[in-house]
Amino acid sequence: MSSERQRELNQPLGGNAMPRFGGIATMMRLPQAQTAAGLDVCFVGVPLDIGTSNRSGARFGPRQIRCESVLLRPYNLATRAAPFDSLQVADLGDVATNPYDLKDSVRMIEEAYDEIVGAGCRPITLGGDHTIAWPILRALKKRHGPLAVVHVDAHADVNDTMNGEKIAHGTPFRRAIEEGLLQCDRMTQIGLRGTGYHADDFDWCRRQGITVVQAEACWIRSLVPLMAEVRARVGDAPVYLSFDIDGLDPAFAPGTGTPEIGGLSVYQGLEIIRGMRGLNVVGADLVEVSPPYDTTGTTALVGANLAYEMLCVMPGVQFR
Ligand code: MN
Ligand code: MN
Repeated sequence: MSSERQRELNQPLGGNAMPRFGGIATMMRLPQAQTAAGLDVCFVGVPLDIGTSNRSGARFGPRQIRCESVLLRPYNLATRAAPFDSLQVADLGDVATNPYDLKDSVRMIEEAYDEIVGAGCRPITLGGDHTIAWPILRALKKRHGPLAVVHVDAHADVNDTMNGEKIAHGTPFRRAIEEGLLQCDRMTQIGLRGTGYHADDFDWCRRQGITVVQAEACWIRSLVPLMAEVRARVGDAPVYLSFDIDGLDPAFAPGTGTPEIGGLSVYQGLEIIRGMRGLNVVGADLVEVSPPYDTTGTTALVGANLAYEMLCVMPGVQFR
């Protein structure tokens, strides 16, 4: 990369230039962009929660994640990732949705992501409930072909219907699989747990060829070895990371709509994302943060940090 380009790269606004409690709270205090043209990676919000089945509030997720992200600094002291030294990154703002119509919202999201992905930009999405993963995967598949997936969640999100509806926050991966958007033999679901309508609910996923790693298999251990297996499974395929914050234990991330006990730790969440370094990550999301149930802001803070970690494993990031 030329030094000219280096100077032109967007940078987060530093805390010495403007105190962290001041200024406009874009994601990481990055410049806001109107289009994805020229961007390698963008942060983009999808404030939508009419796909939720229990507590709502994820429509406020993008704004609150941005608010908590003002404390984030450019360099990753654990991995030495320096994303802003080589990538053009900006906050694209929010995708407009229709708060009265989920089907129309899904259409609007897909159109917005067609434009982002079509510009060659890799989106990191701030949700929003998990419904949004389906139209995002549709847009990504048009550009990259069928996708490998790393899906962190307490829930499999492969219901056929919910209350008779095909589109909801518990159905996105069912719809994506039906449409041939995914490479199931290169997909891993991590953190699944809790109670179901049938004892064999997760076996539907296994029958599709998906590797299911239930939360109990993750308890009290490092996930570094698991991620080596995940990387081998993904290989050179384009891969999407979909991170439902309820994959983490409610002790770490209480502000979410459908909490389940016995979940992953923040440390394991970091190991999962950092374990995706070297893969062809074409996009990622962080969904289901519900600020009204997040009384301390902790969940949004965790979400902001995990979204930054996603940036740090995007192709082209330099490590110092
Ligand atoms: Mn989910
Ligand atoms: Mn979930």
